[in-house]
Amino acid sequence: MTSVLKESHLDPKKAIFDEVVPSGRGFTHELSAGQIVRIVDLEGNQAVDTLFYNACDLDERYSASDTVRAQRSLYLTTGTKLVSSEGRTMLDIVADTCGRHDTIGGACSAESNQVRYALDKKFMHNCRDSFLLALSRYGRGMSKRDLASNINFFMNVPVTPEGGLSFEDGVSGPGRYVEMRAEMDILVLISNCPQLNNPCNAYNPTPIRLLVWNGT
Ligand SMILES: [Zn+2]
Repeated sequence: MTSVLKESHLDPKKAIFDEVVPSGRGFTHELSAGQIVRIVDLEGNQAVDTLFYNACDLDERYSASDTVRAQRSLYLTTGTKLVSSEGRTMLDIVADTCGRHDTIGGACSAESNQVRYALDKKFMHNCRDSFLLALSRYGRGMSKRDLASNINFFMNVPVTPEGGLSFEDGVSGPGRYVEMRAEMDILVLISNCPQLNNPCNAYNPTPIRLLVWNGT
């Protein structure tokens, strides 16, 4: 799927939820079916590691492989259906002013920091720990076993014709956003990536803004 840039007509003043999430912070929020969520890359080039769960059955969760197969593309953009481990559509991407989001790069972790960068990077903040901390605060008994391959909104992981993969400087910019409509009750789990060792955040992690509207 090529990039499909599409703006939204939704008015932030009419949002029922509006919150800024600092970089390095984990975050959970429940959406009702029909609600629309927007993630805004406030300062540009910020990776937003995200997982989705069926809020009524937490064993059903976002599936990167089923999503890639269903849409026959490695990149997510307007029109992409985010598919669950049960093969059902969880959310639809209804607007996107960035044009490309990754779902194969995974989340950074203490282990990947150590392997990719240096032994002494092991204890730096990372998305996997932010996910786990946010899940423990959410309080429904979720843990490591609930983490699956995630989405990296605004992150640029181009795939070469030979199948090569690399983390590149971002294609996003200040104020760009992606917007999704929930097709079922959804638990959103976000780690606003704290990574300082690769260009996914332009070496400068920054805040994001989350807005939610009731469906019309
Ligand atoms: Zn990260």
